Amino acid sequence: MFAEELATLYLEKLGVTNFPVPVELLPKLIGVEPVFDDLGSVVGGIYSCIDNVKFISISTRLREPEKRHVIAHECAHAILHHPFQSLSRTDCSLEEVIRDKQEYQAELFAAYFLIPKWAEFNEYLPIWEIADMFCVPDELLQFRLEHEKNQALSYFFSPWTSYLKKEAIKWLKK
Ligand SMILES: [Zn+2]
Repeated sequence: MFAEELATLYLEKLGVTNFPVPVELLPKLIGVEPVFDDLGSVVGGIYSCIDNVKFISISTRLREPEKRHVIAHECAHAILHHPFQSLSRTDCSLEEVIRDKQEYQAELFAAYFLIPKWAEFNEYLPIWEIADMFCVPDELLQFRLEHEKNQALSYFFSPWTSYLKKEAIKWLKK
């Protein structure tokens, strides 16, 4: 199952129909203990599992949108990649994060959990204004919007479509 579909399912389980999404309900639902701590200036959050007890540590240095992002992201690791340890670094650019498949999946889950598929908003508003409505960092909203756009485009570039194109060219050349 895709991370974004999983996010929709968890929202349904929590009965969430409005935004900003109450992300603080997610750790309890999946049996993860949230711990708020000073993690220094580089780390935003950590997911760890010790003796079968799952924790997410969240930096107390984060602003509200970043804190919400880190909670959703670290919970995604607990859901998708357990057992596993993860660090959410604050000094990584999104591009660096995307290189890692598990990081990409966790980001996808966080994006579609905090900005639900069913959420309707005016896409012509400035990014910061929409991000503010969902109480998420601008970059997460941008990531979510770009992912949706690429998914719509991927239909045209799928292997199946290029196969059909090749067959059509073969047929035309006959
Ligand atoms: Zn991560």
